[in-house]
Amino acid sequence: MLFEDAASYYEKLESVTSRISMIDILAEMFGKAEKEEMRPLIYMTQGLLGPPFEGIQIGIAEKFAQQAIASATGFTKEEVVADAKRTGDLGNTAEGLARKTKLKRMSSRKQSVRDVFAMMLKTASTSGSGSQEAKIRNIAALLASASPLEARYIIRLALGKVRLGAGDATILEALSKMATGERRSKALLENAYNICGDLGKVGEVLAESGMKGIEKVKVSVFNPIRPALAERLPTSEEILEKMHGKCAVESKYDGLRAQVHLDKGKKRVEIFSRNLEKLTPMLPEIAEAALSEVKAERAIIEGEAIAYNEETGEFRPFQETIQRKRKHGIEEFSETMPLHLFAFDLMYLDGEDYLEKPYHERRAKLEYVIKGSKTIIPSGRIIAENPKELEKYFEEQISEGLEGIVAKDLNAPYVAGARKFGWIKLKRSYKGELSDTVDLVIVGYYLGRGSRAEFQFGGLLAAVYNEKRDMFETITRIGTGFSEEQMKSFKRMLDKIKRPGKPARVDAVVVPDFWVEPTYVVTVRADEITKSPMHTCGKEGETGYALRFPRIVSDGVREDKGPEDATSTKEIIEMYGMQKRVKVEDK
Ligand code: ATP
Repeated sequence: MLFEDAASYYEKLESVTSRISMIDILAEMFGKAEKEEMRPLIYMTQGLLGPPFEGIQIGIAEKFAQQAIASATGFTKEEVVADAKRTGDLGNTAEGLARKTKLKRMSSRKQSVRDVFAMMLKTASTSGSGSQEAKIRNIAALLASASPLEARYIIRLALGKVRLGAGDATILEALSKMATGERRSKALLENAYNICGDLGKVGEVLAESGMKGIEKVKVSVFNPIRPALAERLPTSEEILEKMHGKCAVESKYDGLRAQVHLDKGKKRVEIFSRNLEKLTPMLPEIAEAALSEVKAERAIIEGEAIAYNEETGEFRPFQETIQRKRKHGIEEFSETMPLHLFAFDLMYLDGEDYLEKPYHERRAKLEYVIKGSKTIIPSGRIIAENPKELEKYFEEQISEGLEGIVAKDLNAPYVAGARKFGWIKLKRSYKGELSDTVDLVIVGYYLGRGSRAEFQFGGLLAAVYNEKRDMFETITRIGTGFSEEQMKSFKRMLDKIKRPGKPARVDAVVVPDFWVEPTYVVTVRADEITKSPMHTCGKEGETGYALRFPRIVSDGVREDKGPEDATSTKEIIEMYGMQKRVKVEDK
């Protein structure tokens, strides 16, 4: 497939306003690709060069991209910069200048999807002295044999700024439509994706061996599994009832979720975060313990990494654990404030897939393989057979400074990538009104008025994710509680992802001053969930759900959550139900 063809599909994708049309376009595009082109095409459509867990960064700096454009088009760097000021997008500048180019296209050979992908990969892996020049040369070479439209996407790819709005579920439906003619029959594909975490692989297997091949995708070490998630219920009685009278109750640690993949033969460990990014360099003491202390050749273990003082038995607050996510001083921290992994699941062991095995069996084996380890220790737990026992354990955890508990169905499998009642969380905060926080995606912003006019920022339009519809539904406008610093930084961040109209996967009644591509997630606390005709969250007939008195509590945006990891519409409806029940009980 020529990159020119992919670029024209990308252009169409940018202009459509409905999700269904996006899927049709994607399905048609995937249908035209050769088997070997599936991976590159899927990654590039998501603006990536590999699955997210490989962490390949193309991201060349703006100024180098400007130089590449200048050298490919014959305009001066100053002319390029001036045009970029006007268009506000270097991709559009590359396209415009390529149309007016003073130089002739260097080569008449058209480049394929694979040519562009290979050159981008090569560029991403260039390092060391002289590497910047080499990167500029590579991008300039791609531009020199590109059409103006191709130039638009080559530059956006190089900058890491392709934003076509096609999320994982959209791509899976498109693949389903391509393979079966039906976009709704994506269950098998989704299942394969949940256990390998790699959409490119799913697309490739599908193109090579159809749905039969997809059924055979198995858990494998170093392919992160999409995490199982917990439901909520407000009382221990309801939890036990849902669990048929008996369940495991584990401490809920407030740290970083970590999925540890181990292969001793290869002397290799990788640790993945909740959204499948590589955490290995940030957790050296856990990686080392996995190699030296775990009784297995190959294994996948999941747990929560948290700063914990072994001597005093004291758990440190989340803010201390999260310091590991910065780039410097990790070695030092691993000495002065070592993290521990409170392991709570086992998904794979020495050739055997554990996902389908019941929790009690996974847990027993987990305890066996980590026995004796000082750094990787089993999460605290009891087996509860009545609400009193559960309640007591819960209170103990709170007094230890933990978040609450996660109840687990003794017979449930590990359900990758889904929020199911096999796990139910209970936090102290559910017992009041809506004091549990929600994670919302920013879909638009407002201009400031009055005293805020100078910041050109007056608030956010925020949405939840509806998994069934694969759409973002608005739930609130956040207009208060911003510091000057926050206003400036939101404005700067959101200006880079502005969209001329409502993005195809956003459903809204209210219209902000500017729409943005759903990208960033913030954690929000509110007083209450109410019904409102202004918002589309869970909308039936005229009314949807809305938040009352929302304010942002995260320190900026949540880097560990992508737009599809936001709180879901289903969770909001459940929380609304819980809120009503708690109120009735209070009376
Ligand atoms: P939250 O903000 O409540 O952690 P979440 O959306 O990140 O929510 P959930 O699946 O809803 O994730 O809640 C479970 C989370 O709690 C897990 O993602 C995990 O990081 C953490 N956790 C801590 N201790 C445990 C445990 N013993 N078992 C399972 N998860 C645990």
